[in-house]
Amino acid sequence: MAQASGRETPDWYGQGIGHVWLPYAQMKTSPPPLPVVRTMGSRIVLADGRELIDGIASWWTACHGYNHPHIREAVERQLALMPHVMFGGLAHEQALRLAQRLAAMLPGNLSRVFFCDSGSVAVEVALKMAVQYWINRGLPKRRKFISFKGAYHGDTMGAMSVSDLGAGMHARFADLLPEQLRAEFPATQEQMEAMESLLASRSDDLAGIIVEPLVQGAGGMIFHDTEVLRRLRMLADRYELLLIFDEIFTGFGRTGTMFACEAAEVSPDILTLSKALTGGTLPLAATIASTKVFDGFWSDDPHKALMHGPTFMANALACAAANASLDLFEREPRLEQVAGISAQLEEGLARCRGMSGVKDVRVKGAIGVVELDRIDDLSALRQRFLEMGVFIRPIEDIIYLTPAFTIPPDELDVLTKAVVSVVGANGR
Ligand code: PLP
Repeated sequence: MAQASGRETPDWYGQGIGHVWLPYAQMKTSPPPLPVVRTMGSRIVLADGRELIDGIASWWTACHGYNHPHIREAVERQLALMPHVMFGGLAHEQALRLAQRLAAMLPGNLSRVFFCDSGSVAVEVALKMAVQYWINRGLPKRRKFISFKGAYHGDTMGAMSVSDLGAGMHARFADLLPEQLRAEFPATQEQMEAMESLLASRSDDLAGIIVEPLVQGAGGMIFHDTEVLRRLRMLADRYELLLIFDEIFTGFGRTGTMFACEAAEVSPDILTLSKALTGGTLPLAATIASTKVFDGFWSDDPHKALMHGPTFMANALACAAANASLDLFEREPRLEQVAGISAQLEEGLARCRGMSGVKDVRVKGAIGVVELDRIDDLSALRQRFLEMGVFIRPIEDIIYLTPAFTIPPDELDVLTKAVVSVVGANGR
């Protein structure tokens, strides 16, 4: 790994950096990570005293900004009481309250919450749930999923198998993964018809359809409209498939409504949540099943039980953080803030339209995207953002902003101006 910048780094950094393995990084050539000592609001404080305005909210998690006192107090209270107990044979208030609140917030009869500790595992659980649902109903051949080009559902084996392998990061594992069916995203009538023919020919071995509703996130921040989701629901019903919405990115306000499925008025059979569930403080995820799916497991036969159980499922600290995060959604005007951010992103990024090298500028909720024809040197671009005092990390040719919903307008202004400036220089 390249050396840290010439600035002073703390002892813990120099002593530990040679012992960690970083995500998605070629360890030999990647620029070293920045030593962070503190966060607050939308700011990240580095060891050398610099403050960066965060455009990403730590992979889309910190929706209330960092260090929100209400979440901190809830976690501290819970820590004093009980940080964790196993969820096998034991239950606790924070998890049960959270499950009840999520069920009340979600549409339709999504009413049974299975907790786990990361988004990828929530997707694994959703896939296992769907496959076992059909096994329990006497249709064991129904074990494949339709997923879409541009999809990203996580890095574990099942999640990779329903992600777009062509997108690069998972292609090398292609031979190892369960075989699934991948369709063009059905945004047009023609694509929808192509998907329907696929369903008609394969529905006997299909368990379900999995989709990121409204926004395909890590696969390129690709937006689609609510009508697609209504049509997917219709097709799932027609071919008796389970419809899975992966709302790990879109859940909790990011696209403008509390959940993307709400905007579409579509209720899936299974829904996954994580990321902003705890306001970005602790790892927690959930796979929520409809009563129809849950009833498929309800039996006197122990073999019909769902065979999954992560050690740290329903961790009490994480559930306390999630309950506190939901309090904030109830008490504070988060969705209005998202609408304000949306308008400001539209206005702030509009100057990128028509710039040389810009393919598209798009905004949905608190997501602002500038898609470029190409970025030749991603590291140099990231460095340029740092020099401007902002933390923005493009994915491939996509520069995007997904700030905390509480970001003050002047800080958001700094972010959009940095994007405009860097995009302008990139096109020259
Ligand atoms: N599903 C979606 C839609 C995601 O955006 C992500 C992560 O970016 C995941 C699943 C995987 O979540 P995790 O990184 O917590 O495993």
